[in-house]
Amino acid sequence: MKITKLKGVIDYYGEYANYFKIVEKACKKVVEAYNYKEIITPVIEPAEVFLRTVGDESDIVGKEMYLFKDRGDRQIALKPETTASVMRMYVENKLYTEPGLKKYYYLSPNFRYDRPQAGRYRQFYQFGIEALGVESPYLDAEVIQMAYQIFNELGLKNIKININTLGSDETRKNYTKALKEYFSDKLDSLCDDCKRRFNTNPLRMLDCKKDQDTDILKNVVKIQDYLSKEDDEYFAKLLKTLDELNVPYVVNAKIVRGLDYYTNDIFEFIYENENSPLNNLAIGGGGRYNNLAKEFDGPDTPSIGFGMGMERLIGVLMELDGKTFKKEPLVVVISLSEEAKPKAIKIANELREIGYVVDLDYLNNNLKPQFKLCDRLNPDFIVIIGEDEIKNNTLKIKNTKTQDQFDLKVEELKEYFKK
Ligand code: AMP
Repeated sequence: MKITKLKGVIDYYGEYANYFKIVEKACKKVVEAYNYKEIITPVIEPAEVFLRTVGDESDIVGKEMYLFKDRGDRQIALKPETTASVMRMYVENKLYTEPGLKKYYYLSPNFRYDRPQAGRYRQFYQFGIEALGVESPYLDAEVIQMAYQIFNELGLKNIKININTLGSDETRKNYTKALKEYFSDKLDSLCDDCKRRFNTNPLRMLDCKKDQDTDILKNVVKIQDYLSKEDDEYFAKLLKTLDELNVPYVVNAKIVRGLDYYTNDIFEFIYENENSPLNNLAIGGGGRYNNLAKEFDGPDTPSIGFGMGMERLIGVLMELDGKTFKKEPLVVVISLSEEAKPKAIKIANELREIGYVVDLDYLNNNLKPQFKLCDRLNPDFIVIIGEDEIKNNTLKIKNTKTQDQFDLKVEELKEYFKK
């Protein structure tokens, strides 16, 4: 019986798995330097974790969540996003009893019953960070800077950072009222989703995909006109810090983000490349969510975070043909006799100890099949051990980029490769 994978999922192997590793490594390297610690939350959660927090009007909860009853008749969700799950874990385990700012990062599969297309899958991985317990525009700027640094670490250039602020609870209340007044006599011209959101969550009308280009949405009242003095000052400090850090951004009053739990500043990272099927897709996004802990009956915990789609980062990186990132240099060790084999394994290990990726052929002692392996792996260096080399206690080294070939004393090997 032929069984194939489900629609909208990826088998990660070969080159794709390699890219996954590269992106994972770059993300972790950046955030670990800021002292973020890895956490892992379950793939299955009580559906309530998301129903209560992400919002009924969000596509995630309204249309895309994988829901099922388990054998104990509990309503379970495959997690469609990770922030709510992190907050559930934070409150349940009383992580708030540790003093100060809590900094977490995760790499997690998420599940959404989305329509599969370029960059859109039903199972995808998110790399994200959450900083819990502090409200400060300087922290927020640093969070955005971290995302920018990940793009730089991977050599990704065409990613635009859009920022907006939703202001405090009071501001959003006033703005929601203003939106209702603005839309109240225009509803007939809007789509069904907008008509419904008018009653449930008018903020979500702003990022309606169907009505986006209508004059009604183009001329809509702007949240900027409703920000309080404190909101303005907070946002100004955030932007000023980003300027100081040389992080480029665009203030875009239209972004509201699809999830209900956001408060204050929110941001999106958009890929811009007209020649790419991924053009205009969000590589990631995030923002402040100061009220989420309270949804889980936790203490007041002002928080901020971002999530990035691994497959989208990989997609963009693959378009660049991987030219922009540094790979660990690869060495293949060739051995030309049974006697040379254990020595080759020893040499390989010595090179691994100093940071090289090393591979070798365990079956063959002839040159031809081992050169074939080199053709396949395309190493930066080839090290050859034959009879002459064993006799003279030397190794033959070939630099495949410069085509240089020379002999080296075995004891000089590490010294040479360290350089
Ligand atoms: P969101 O939680 O919707 O803000 O998503 C955060 C990031 O996850 C997005 O910017 C995308 O990079 C990624 N993402 C969201 N949905 C999908 C999907 N269906 N397939 C692949 N990546 C996704």
